[in-house]
Amino acid sequence: MDVDSTVKGFYEQILQRNAGEPEFHQAVSEVLASLRYVLRKDPHYADNGLIQRLTEPERQIIFRVPWIDDQGQVQVNRGFRVQFNSVLGPYKGGLRFHPSVNLGIIKFLGFEQIFKNSLTGLPIGGGKGGSDFDPKGKSDMEIMRFCQSFMTELERHIGDKVDVPAGDIGVGGREIGYLFGQYRRMTGRHVSGTLTGKGLTWGGSLVRTEATGYGCVYFTQEMMASRGDRLHGAKVIISGSGNVAIYAIEKAQELGATVVAFSDSSGYVSTPDGVDVELLRDIKEVRRLRVSDYVKETNGATFHKGGNIWETEADVALPCATQNELDGEAAKLLADHGVKYVAEGANMPCTHDAIQVFKKRKIDFAPGKAANAGGVATSALEMQQNASRDSWTFEYTDKRLRDIMRNIFKNAARTAEDYDVPRDFVVGANIAGFKKVADAMIAQGVI
Ligand code: GLU
Repeated sequence: MDVDSTVKGFYEQILQRNAGEPEFHQAVSEVLASLRYVLRKDPHYADNGLIQRLTEPERQIIFRVPWIDDQGQVQVNRGFRVQFNSVLGPYKGGLRFHPSVNLGIIKFLGFEQIFKNSLTGLPIGGGKGGSDFDPKGKSDMEIMRFCQSFMTELERHIGDKVDVPAGDIGVGGREIGYLFGQYRRMTGRHVSGTLTGKGLTWGGSLVRTEATGYGCVYFTQEMMASRGDRLHGAKVIISGSGNVAIYAIEKAQELGATVVAFSDSSGYVSTPDGVDVELLRDIKEVRRLRVSDYVKETNGATFHKGGNIWETEADVALPCATQNELDGEAAKLLADHGVKYVAEGANMPCTHDAIQVFKKRKIDFAPGKAANAGGVATSALEMQQNASRDSWTFEYTDKRLRDIMRNIFKNAARTAEDYDVPRDFVVGANIAGFKKVADAMIAQGVI
């Protein structure tokens, strides 16, 4: 088999069948590039339409979400749930509420989720959903009415054995509460395993809030330790200031690093003496303000309006904001400034060009499907607790998370070595995630 032309053929079909979805093309093309290594050794993975089936969602749901704003006006948004692959378990993945959401974005996120969830080692399939609803500036009651309308349609498509949504950008504890309330009211049942990221008194898990950020730092620790380095004393850039960034900052600093910059879409804050996490959490999560407000309430921090966070000097960079926030030029800046490690806390924050620069400049790079898998892994631990009507301690759950992240690192590193590309964690994670899903798909027949 001529692997290169076979893979090229698959990709051309993808472009044709999914026109106008550049983020989905990007996510698929990255996985296909890794699969060349697999197909050279094991060409049977191209048989029986496996690649075509893997890149075609099992089900895509698009629905109208009408709601009434505080002025009494009707607003109409679009809701999505892409149920991508359920070969390993019920569809699992978050909901994103952001004006940039469209079908292509949800498909890219759902596709990534398949391999990420496979890497966790837990029995969860891949899915993703959301809406182009913009939560920014909305009142609490508007958020509630929107969530209730969204769930009124989504309810018939989800369930603890079917599809288990959770949070993502724009969807946190408050939104999960309103969504769960409406689900419970509509079904007349308290089935806690239907959503994850719930409040602690009604089926939520300790550590779930912290898990994506903590997990990304645990992964970074493993990657550094494999070179004899450690976070203690290191300078770290963490972009973003949402749920992932906040807890990545907290854990990195707990381990003795100094977080020298964080950001939001308006600019970045440089913090040469480190970040006051309590203040940041209060500003972002309680008062729902912007990062520019952080500098008004503390000393030694400066706000760079519209600035480029990647021009900061550091040893480690953790992009934790959103897709394609770090391009080739930014990657060169990081390399010139001495960054040695990059791990993605967000989903696909580094462009293809950025990843090429990291490779050329010998920077260790951890892709999101490995480095940010801690969130969904802890969601699966929440499902386990719900199924057994139990709740675990913080220490026990955190240890489970740490072990999962260590195993993902080992698995990605070992797989990269097996395919003769040592320390290529992109190839390692893609292949390790893929093989488990592909073997299960082969075992379960052409579905
Ligand atoms: N949205 C998160 C992710 O990108 C978590 C999903 C979940 O917990 O189901 O993996």
